[in-house]
Amino acid sequence: MGPKEMIETLTPGDRTKVGVKMSGGTDSSLAAFLLVEKFVQEEEDIEIIPIVIIEPRAPFQLEFVQKITSFIESKFEFHFNKPEVFQLDRDDKLEFMRSIENQLFEKEVVDLIVSGITREPLDPNFITTGSPNDGRDKECTTYLWDNRIFTPFVNFDKKVIAQSYKGNTILEEMFDLTRSCIAPTNDFSTHCGKCWWCRERFWAFGRL
Ligand SMILES: [Zn+2]
Repeated sequence: MGPKEMIETLTPGDRTKVGVKMSGGTDSSLAAFLLVEKFVQEEEDIEIIPIVIIEPRAPFQLEFVQKITSFIESKFEFHFNKPEVFQLDRDDKLEFMRSIENQLFEKEVVDLIVSGITREPLDPNFITTGSPNDGRDKECTTYLWDNRIFTPFVNFDKKVIAQSYKGNTILEEMFDLTRSCIAPTNDFSTHCGKCWWCRERFWAFGRL
């Protein structure tokens, strides 16, 4: 089972407001793309709400998410809802995510959240020095919390994500809009090539 098949196992039931965490990177962009594709094909009347966490070191994230959502909208007859945007204000990203998820459920902004989180590379040739380990859930179940949080890619590493992109013209076009790098820069057309995220991206895709 690959990413597309995993997304297809999602049965929203009576839930109509689906939040999708988006960072502008390859994994969350693929999750958003496949969700929209599925709901449009199934003619499900579902609202999709991008959830964006802006890290202090990466203030450009919202801009990248907006490029991705515009791209997906242009490929399907679909419109995302206005994104829910949060500024990361503490060191513990996982705890922060849990608290905003709770808020979004309590305020009934969403009734399901999809996260495109992936597993870290287990490849011994991949240099793990500097691994962020910040907010990647370690649970290896695809549903967390009372069936409210769906993590379809949690048992896939980024090479599995790359397989979905390869040979798919539309997704390869989307790949060029994604950004994994968190290094500060004024030139967003390039990746630094040195940070952990760049190395993982190169490991998986063979290019930045
Ligand atoms: Zn980088």
